[in-house]
Amino acid sequence: MRDLLNELNNSQRAAVEYCDGAQLVIAGAGSGKTRVLTYKIAYLLQRGMKPWSVLALTFTNKAAREMKERIGGIVGTDVARQLNMGTFHSIFSRILRIESASIGYNANYTIYDETDSRTLIKNIIKGMGLDDKKYKPATVHNLISMAKNHLITADDYANDAAAIERDQEARMPAVASIYRSYEAHLRQSNAMDFDDLLLNTYVLFRDHEDIRQKYAQHYSYILVDEYQDTNIAQQAIISQLSTQYNRVCVVGDDYQSIYSFRGANIDNILDFQKKFPGAKLFKLERNYRSTQRIVEAANSLMKHNQRQIKKDVYSDEAEGDKIVYRPAYSDKEEAAIVAKEIRKIKKAENGQYSDFAILYRTNAQSRSFEEEFRKDGIPYKIYGGLSFYQRKEIKDIIAYLRVVANPDDDQALLRIINYPARGIGNTTIQKITVAAENGETSMWQVIRRPGFYGLNVNKGTLTKLDGFATLIEGFLAKTKNTDIYALGKDIVKISGISADLYSSRDAEHISRQENLEELLSGMQAFVDQNREEGREDEIFISDYLADVSLLTDQDSDDDNDTVTMMTIHAAKGLEFPTVFVVGLEENIFPSPMAINSSSGLEEERRLLYVAITRAERHCILTNAQNRFRYGTMQFDVPSRFIADIDKNLINCQDGTDNDTTTDKGIAGYGGRMPWDRKRRSWETGPRLDNRYQNSQPVADRFMADPKLKVTHPRKPEKPVQTFYKVETKSGELKVGSIIEHERFGVGTITQLEGKGENTKATVDFRNLGRKQLLLKFARFKII
Ligand code: ATP
Ligand code: MG
Repeated sequence: MRDLLNELNNSQRAAVEYCDGAQLVIAGAGSGKTRVLTYKIAYLLQRGMKPWSVLALTFTNKAAREMKERIGGIVGTDVARQLNMGTFHSIFSRILRIESASIGYNANYTIYDETDSRTLIKNIIKGMGLDDKKYKPATVHNLISMAKNHLITADDYANDAAAIERDQEARMPAVASIYRSYEAHLRQSNAMDFDDLLLNTYVLFRDHEDIRQKYAQHYSYILVDEYQDTNIAQQAIISQLSTQYNRVCVVGDDYQSIYSFRGANIDNILDFQKKFPGAKLFKLERNYRSTQRIVEAANSLMKHNQRQIKKDVYSDEAEGDKIVYRPAYSDKEEAAIVAKEIRKIKKAENGQYSDFAILYRTNAQSRSFEEEFRKDGIPYKIYGGLSFYQRKEIKDIIAYLRVVANPDDDQALLRIINYPARGIGNTTIQKITVAAENGETSMWQVIRRPGFYGLNVNKGTLTKLDGFATLIEGFLAKTKNTDIYALGKDIVKISGISADLYSSRDAEHISRQENLEELLSGMQAFVDQNREEGREDEIFISDYLADVSLLTDQDSDDDNDTVTMMTIHAAKGLEFPTVFVVGLEENIFPSPMAINSSSGLEEERRLLYVAITRAERHCILTNAQNRFRYGTMQFDVPSRFIADIDKNLINCQDGTDNDTTTDKGIAGYGGRMPWDRKRRSWETGPRLDNRYQNSQPVADRFMADPKLKVTHPRKPEKPVQTFYKVETKSGELKVGSIIEHERFGVGTITQLEGKGENTKATVDFRNLGRKQLLLKFARFKII
């Protein structure tokens, strides 16, 4: 038997060996928290614990898969396969399927994604005659989602004084009624949204003691990764499940708490020992992932946050390079610099494209990199954004499957009732909706029994509806003796989708056809996998659909050699030899939505900590002085966070081959370095933010400095455009002049043609290569 404990350091080993009760492992990035979980599970299995009695909860499916693979490597894949390991949502959705009857659902319930939820809320708002400018569906959905994450049901909400007061203040007194109606609609459609998967699990265990006990006895050990990002509902369910054995092991890092906007509650970590009395605290301090300077730079950044558990993280790896800061003139140049750097490092270290990650604050930032990489032939893969399963053609086919799995699923039915076009128009759909509403039933029931529900449409329409019902019933009949792949193929063919998609060979259609093929291959893979694992007979469409709806951003994986592009949120738990953190500008990072509160700003700073600590050997920060946004060129100043990093651990490089590196900035960048900027008084003065006063005692127990100091939120920077004006007369220019261009950066003039206004200059730019500029339009200055 492999000696697992030997592959761990002393503190990690202690955490793995401790099995006498609840435990909290709190440690900085890269210190082996996930490794402790993995090894602990393998250790438990080696000592005879049954795999199905282990419940391991992760943040993404990918993390679960990786952990399973590692454990499989130690104890054998057969054993690892039987572990209850997955995301909160996928594990709980399975429990809810089994226990659905106890909470008034059918086992084939569908899971509404964000779009489904928003559309439904939008329709409810309209139906109630409310103004959807005042009641923005996204805002209302957010409020409902937050409520659910705080375990506040629709009934609770209507009686919640705080919620009522807040909604009244926001001039949205009807949120409680919308929430109620939303719930009713979900139930009629036999559907749950993402938050329901948690809330309903909680309610199930709360109201059915026998069921709760059954699961509490079943799970001998509960382990949770990334505990800092759990919300109140998740925490409560873990409590419900751990009463029997009190064997809970959670690992997390308060420095990496980055999901409070989705209801994650950092107090879950800070309060852990209160919720689980006697819980033992373990700390890991050695970082195995990154070089010393990366770890120190990340630590120095976090010194600027106040509310956190004090940690000393160090690295025994090589000292390594300093963090590099590469300011660019424009987003275009920023992308070119990153591309150039990737090629340079890849060559120098004989590496692969998959060694590189580009992390950004928001999905939209990927565009300039995509353009540059396509031009340069650098293979890349974007995680998140419009994920595969969000594309129209995919959603259409999935909607058919959803209706076949659960015909009461109104949102799916709405999507396909007239796609491909079968002459069922909006008026008819409206009438069906109203009849369903009045009959307190789903649209499908109305379509099947239009007379019974008093649907008032003409004969021609009735025939069309009947045709649609027959189509769906045909698929329903097939579900009994066919697999998901065969069913998918049938749907595509018989519904007329393939005729629609294959009607043309233009680029748009071809791309959609490829997606369709990809979806079918995915179905085939799903069937094969379950066959291989001997579960063929137990698998239903709803299992496939649950899998698909619960896919998280980074799950659609393949092992090609590509550069990874993703948001920092999606990069949690991952590691790469080289990491670029791009777009470090005020107005982007920190996000403008976060800068008005110190808690918001601290969360943004933690986000940068997460980004930097993904890097093993190289961490490069970039930004652009000019960026095309909202249709115009915007002038941005460097992110305030750059100046938070210890000056001795960060270098500015200007991107020439003979990199001039100083700590103070270099020719052409004078005054642009964030630390050259004078701090305003309101940026430095400590002030107690009274929002924190309530939680102060809890935080105190962990903090070295018990005086809670929180700096006052800084005022947003006012953009000042000082740099670029067309102030140059062509006469001043000659071959050899060095210019600084607004978007292309620094370059040397190699040729001048023409006269006066119409002079054309050929310029060799440092990062963007050779370009021709017509002087009368060019925005640059001589340096
Ligand atoms: P994060 O906070 O980013 O999730 P983490 O604390 O979960 O990080 P891991 O991902 O478990 O850290 O570990 C970081 C890296 O260090 C991994 O590559 C892991 O294999 C390696 N590592 C951790 N502990 C050891 C050890 N004792 N010996 C060798 N390698 C280790
Ligand atoms: Mg981890």
